[in-house]
Amino acid sequence: MRLVVALNRYHCGLMPSTSSEPDPAALSILQQVFGYGAFRGEQAAVVEHVLRGGDALVLMPTGGGKSLCYQIPAIARHRAGRGVTLVVSPLIALMHDQVGALEETGVHAAFLNSTLEGDEARHIERELLAGRLVLLYAAPERILTPRFLAMLESLHERGLLSLVAIDEAHCVSQWGHDFREEYLGLSVLHERFPDVPRLALTATADHHTRRDILERLRLQDARQFVASFDRPNIRYTIVEKDNPRAQLLRFVLDEHDGDAGIVYCQSRKRVEETAEFLREQGVAALAYHAGLDAAVRKDHQDRFLRDDGVVMVATIAFGMGIDKPDVRFVAHLDLPKNIEGYYQETGRAGRDGLPADAWMTYGLADVVNQRRMIDDSPAAEEFKRVQRGKLDALLALAEGLDCRRVRLLGYFGQASEPCGNCDNCLTPPTAWDATEAARKALSCIYRFRQHSGLSFGTGHLIDVLRGKLTDKTRQHGHEQLSTFGVGADLSEAQWRGVLRQLIALGHLASIGEYNTLELTESARAVLRGEGSLLLRVPAEPTRRPRAARGSGRAKVPPLPLDDLAAQRFLALKTWRAEVAREHNLPAYVVFHDATLAEMARGQPDSLDALAGISGVGVKKLQAYGSEILRVLQAA
Ligand code: ADP
Ligand code: ZN
Repeated sequence: MRLVVALNRYHCGLMPSTSSEPDPAALSILQQVFGYGAFRGEQAAVVEHVLRGGDALVLMPTGGGKSLCYQIPAIARHRAGRGVTLVVSPLIALMHDQVGALEETGVHAAFLNSTLEGDEARHIERELLAGRLVLLYAAPERILTPRFLAMLESLHERGLLSLVAIDEAHCVSQWGHDFREEYLGLSVLHERFPDVPRLALTATADHHTRRDILERLRLQDARQFVASFDRPNIRYTIVEKDNPRAQLLRFVLDEHDGDAGIVYCQSRKRVEETAEFLREQGVAALAYHAGLDAAVRKDHQDRFLRDDGVVMVATIAFGMGIDKPDVRFVAHLDLPKNIEGYYQETGRAGRDGLPADAWMTYGLADVVNQRRMIDDSPAAEEFKRVQRGKLDALLALAEGLDCRRVRLLGYFGQASEPCGNCDNCLTPPTAWDATEAARKALSCIYRFRQHSGLSFGTGHLIDVLRGKLTDKTRQHGHEQLSTFGVGADLSEAQWRGVLRQLIALGHLASIGEYNTLELTESARAVLRGEGSLLLRVPAEPTRRPRAARGSGRAKVPPLPLDDLAAQRFLALKTWRAEVAREHNLPAYVVFHDATLAEMARGQPDSLDALAGISGVGVKKLQAYGSEILRVLQAA
């Protein structure tokens, strides 16, 4: 019997379930089929609840382990003669690999979507109707067709419709950017098959989305499982934007040379430019956004999933459902819209539990742009109010002097202690009292108005504060203002920092076509001298973030192996690449890096010893065991 090994290395921060012992049948499937020693966090409780026939809503962070929550009940119920589990997923392009991963572990699964030839589809339908399939993946638009519903009816009549799992359930909510109209039709599954348990899963935890899922999918009576949202292996870093492309390049080359990663940008144009820039600098970068041809998108996605060390530069159109476990970093060149988006995107790093980075550059223009996008949108005032609140929370995270993780988790309603694995914990920033500087800036804007009734942008304001004579200052007679030159003691970059933080805090608004600065209601309090303003010491423009961090942060190798073990690891990777090519699957579907690393480190010399390694289930042991032992011996 396999030993239950301690899985600390693999944890994603989900505390071991505190409930009683997990269901023995479920545990045996986890160990025999998937080769994992223990359930993570809420997994055991979810599985048990669903095995008893209950409905559930599962909220877990990206990379938290949602798939097993429905895959294990699916297998157990199929073994008990209850037939197939229907998995609803919007991600047609990923179904092939998801199903391939299950087949690798010996679980009979299939998908039905438009990419299949007629013959293949008919074959799968026969397998389905005969009750042989354990899991069937399909997109909602397919499921809602009369033909598909008729097949489900037929299965249901014979007691062979076991369970419905609705993945990416937040797609039913109009609040997020992933809204899919067809998800609204899924309540039909409940109306037609009220006795079939349903399980909705998502990584979006906010309260609007949760309410929408429960209402629209008719899951009001479902039990809710909320996992810990912590992903302790991810290191959060937010740097001040200076020269973002150069900063990104340095980050990638210094800390993630040769690693797979994702770089998020806001616009398609920036995606294209950044990908090209990285390629010119020798980084294997590809672009992905909704404006690219479907064939190009598919090709780039396949290369990201199948090749080693590809950096995908993308808009948020990329990433949902991407379960590549060895993405070592997620970088943001632009500020996302809110913390939900940021957390979902950064969560795509380090699913394998090994160290990973979430890195973002952030500057004045980001604050201005995000505020503007909300102001200019045609949405209702109520909607804008919610969006502003969400943006404020994200800005507070970016400007904050305290632990990033404490803030992130706090946003999801979870209390925690400073983490020791974010930039603010590792290199505590110094604060300076910017009350005086803020007052100077605000009163200078006030004087502009008084003087000529006009408002100006940040560039001119900084010139006036620093006492710089330009054509514009002369033209407007601003060298005569009492605030001219009162801020010569701060550098231009420092002033930009002050203004950014004043906008982030809502004391200043940047308005109109020319981004002119206006005082807000709350600016008055600052001008009156109420309260003080403690700001992060602005980074010197010449001081690169890398240098700022000092030598305190050596590159943490994701896989700490000695030379000989590293050699074995490489041999295993070469072998794995061949298998993956033969099976037309991404390499990680065969084995994760973490599993290969454990083999390389532990050097198992028998099938029994190999079976003890996390990620090696019965089927993979049979299929690959002797090959692996041979590779290990030869290396
Ligand atoms: P999610 O869908 O929640 O983003 P996944 O289901 O893709 O996350 O799981 C993330 C990773 O964690 C996967 O690589 C999966 O194999 C692994 N995993 C999930 N549960 C366990 C477990 N109990 N023990 C070890 N690894 C696990
Ligand atoms: Zn921290």
